[in-house]
Amino acid sequence: MRLTIAIDGPAAAGKGTLSRELARAFDLAHLDTGLIYRATGRRTLDGTGALEAAQTLTAADLEADDLRTPDVARAASVVAAIPEVRAALVDFQRAFARRQGGAVLDGRDIGTVICPEAEMKFFVTASDEVRAERRFVELKEGGHDVTFDTVLADLRERDARDSARATAPLKPAEDAEVLDTSEMDIDAVVATAIAMVTARTGLKPVA
Ligand code: C5P
Repeated sequence: MRLTIAIDGPAAAGKGTLSRELARAFDLAHLDTGLIYRATGRRTLDGTGALEAAQTLTAADLEADDLRTPDVARAASVVAAIPEVRAALVDFQRAFARRQGGAVLDGRDIGTVICPEAEMKFFVTASDEVRAERRFVELKEGGHDVTFDTVLADLRERDARDSARATAPLKPAEDAEVLDTSEMDIDAVVATAIAMVTARTGLKPVA
């Protein structure tokens, strides 16, 4: 069977790690869709219009080494609220989801808009403080000069914009399994999710 796994959730909830681990376990391709919005937002910081940036995005844009900064994250969530920008990015994501061999996609609207037919959907979440702490540690390790309070404020601002927008807001699909990672370590989250995929699809992990 062609397996699509959709993983949604707010910033720094653990979607990235879970997606990579599920892709490895079931030998699926992985697309971090946040990167597409980050690359689009990144281009607007250089003065390109948001829609033009989305329509002319190239694979090389996704490889820029500064896509993980707080400024780019903010710019991403601003362009992501523009319906025409989202529309310009849909086809690429859907084509990826349907690829032979199956795929894991993570983002904000994968289970609700991009892949409503996904065989398996997860909504990964955690408390604001836990998520901010994880992102704070990540940014510090990456050499960014940030404080916990600004990371927490940025994350809440971004979640509020992502949840309140009219088009494809951040919310769990009705048939998503909700995983709250506030008090689980990542190994436990991955093991739980793998067991759920196996229970739902009959597929056993290969790695
Ligand atoms: O997942 P990440 O934090 O890298 O995403 C950056 C921003 O891109 C999010 O805050 C959100 O505004 C936007 N995004 C989105 N839909 C997706 C993935 C990301 O709107 N599927």
